[in-house]
Amino acid sequence: MPFRNPQPRYNQKIVRARSLAVKRFFLRLLRIVRQYTPPMATPRTTFTFVGERLWLDFVNSELSARNGDALYDFESLVQWLEAATILDLERAAGIRRRAVQQPAGAAASLIDARRVRASLRSLAERGVVSERIRMDALAEINRVLGRSAGTRRVDLKTDGTFGRSFVPVGDAFAGLVIPVVESAADALIAGELSRVRRCADVRCLRVFYDTTKNGRRRWCDMSTCGNRAKAARHREKVRTGDLPVSEESTLQT
Ligand SMILES: [Zn+2]
Repeated sequence: MPFRNPQPRYNQKIVRARSLAVKRFFLRLLRIVRQYTPPMATPRTTFTFVGERLWLDFVNSELSARNGDALYDFESLVQWLEAATILDLERAAGIRRRAVQQPAGAAASLIDARRVRASLRSLAERGVVSERIRMDALAEINRVLGRSAGTRRVDLKTDGTFGRSFVPVGDAFAGLVIPVVESAADALIAGELSRVRRCADVRCLRVFYDTTKNGRRRWCDMSTCGNRAKAARHREKVRTGDLPVSEESTLQT
């Protein structure tokens, strides 16, 4: 009969108890860490770029997917400029630091950006028929272009393509919307206003530059307004008996 030492069994119990305590400790730690870790930053607004021109996309920022102003604070303006690839990560970080140092300056630049946007909306919607609106927008464009000095650059973007950029010197806030305003200036110079349209859906405020050959683009976006109109047309055909009901089910709404 081999001699059995009770000691190892006792030790095993201690080891098991200790490992259980360690396990509980780490589980508790994990809970605490989870509790205090801020949620991952998620974009608060989905921006749409369907205008074919930067200045028109800027005008469209007035109405985001959630039907509110996409530029509702200075941070959202910076996010829009990033999404439009006007600001790269480094410059956006610099602007954010400056906004913390000069909150009043940041707030003023947001108000100014909205003022520019209102003027550009008038230009997009009625500029082609009203000389007064064209002149007002021109004054606004020159006001922005004239107030900031900076350096023009050509940068290699992350997707491998090249793009122009404008790096303001002095007041960094003042130069934020310069690329937008330059895009509107380009549209005036190139005589593009006659091809700028508002979405045919009366509930939609989006504007766009019609790049189609026949100049008959009607909708800001086929996946939203265009598709809704298509579905409505088919419903009307079904109602009037021009289309069998079974065909309607193939449509997205
Ligand atoms: Zn639309």
